[in-house]
Amino acid sequence: MLNIDLHCHSNMSDGVLSPAEIVARAAANGVHALALTDHDDVAGIAAAQAAAATAGLRLIPGVEISVSWGGQTVHIVGLRIDPRHPELAAGLHGIRRGRIERARRMGDDLAQSGIAGAYAGACGYAANQQLVGRTHFARWLVAQGHVPDMRAAFRRFLTRGNPGYVEHEWATLENAVGWIHASGGTAVIAHPGRYAFNARELHLLLDAFRALGGEGIEVISGTHHPTEYGKFADLARAFSLKASRGTDFHAPGEGADIGRLPALPHYCQPVWQGWPELAAHFSSSLA
Ligand code: AMP
Ligand code: MN
Ligand code: MN
Ligand code: MN
Repeated sequence: MLNIDLHCHSNMSDGVLSPAEIVARAAANGVHALALTDHDDVAGIAAAQAAAATAGLRLIPGVEISVSWGGQTVHIVGLRIDPRHPELAAGLHGIRRGRIERARRMGDDLAQSGIAGAYAGACGYAANQQLVGRTHFARWLVAQGHVPDMRAAFRRFLTRGNPGYVEHEWATLENAVGWIHASGGTAVIAHPGRYAFNARELHLLLDAFRALGGEGIEVISGTHHPTEYGKFADLARAFSLKASRGTDFHAPGEGADIGRLPALPHYCQPVWQGWPELAAHFSSSLA
């Protein structure tokens, strides 16, 4: 079987490994094609491409764009994007500007709850100072002993209704899909099982996404429980969306390791079907 992992993070967003370390780990785990999909930034793609050329795997340029939709944050993955495309680059730059402002407000909010120094602390965990997010705050909260682990950091802080959570306007769904398409990419709804939507709201999201020309949805995600795979495979079919597979790897020991997930259900249409850069892999896997 071809091992294709279309969702992971380097330290250019909230992962802990450098882009080159991500590629080396993927190659060691037997991954044939890997998409680097950092949050709201493409800063790691050039280094990942360079590493992939010698590691013997195919690097798919990607990004995971933060979107506000239906009162929630939704993530849209762009695959086979052109990281240098000006419209995409400008859109991502705008999101990162908003992130810095949000991180300061998160720090202020934690300070009001008696936890001082969080903004500077979170920045200390970020290799990319334009990309400071909740994960960096969570790592600092754990290291400072405020919480025992990452789960607790997000349960007690950083989530709606808790200290350190501030409302934020991300990109619109229309903009995110538009930037991905402008740069030649394919748009995929990330980890649909992670959103606090009921069935009707999720259907509305899929309708809106389809109406904008969105192509795919993650069916096999490292953040999905195995009992959810069938549900999202059925939804992909019902909404004529192609199916994607990605671990959403962030760090060793946290969740699924790169490439370590089940295959797509046989009745799904893979999002990578027909991608010319994978043709050599398909023919050699038949030989
Ligand atoms: P941000 O984009 O800064 O709001 O951060 C979102 C990121 O936080 C996600 O991409 C995950 O990496 C991480 N995250 C969100 N919720 C949790 C959770 N409950 N446990 C661990 N990590 C989480
Ligand atoms: Mn993340
Ligand atoms: Mn995500
Ligand atoms: Mn992700």
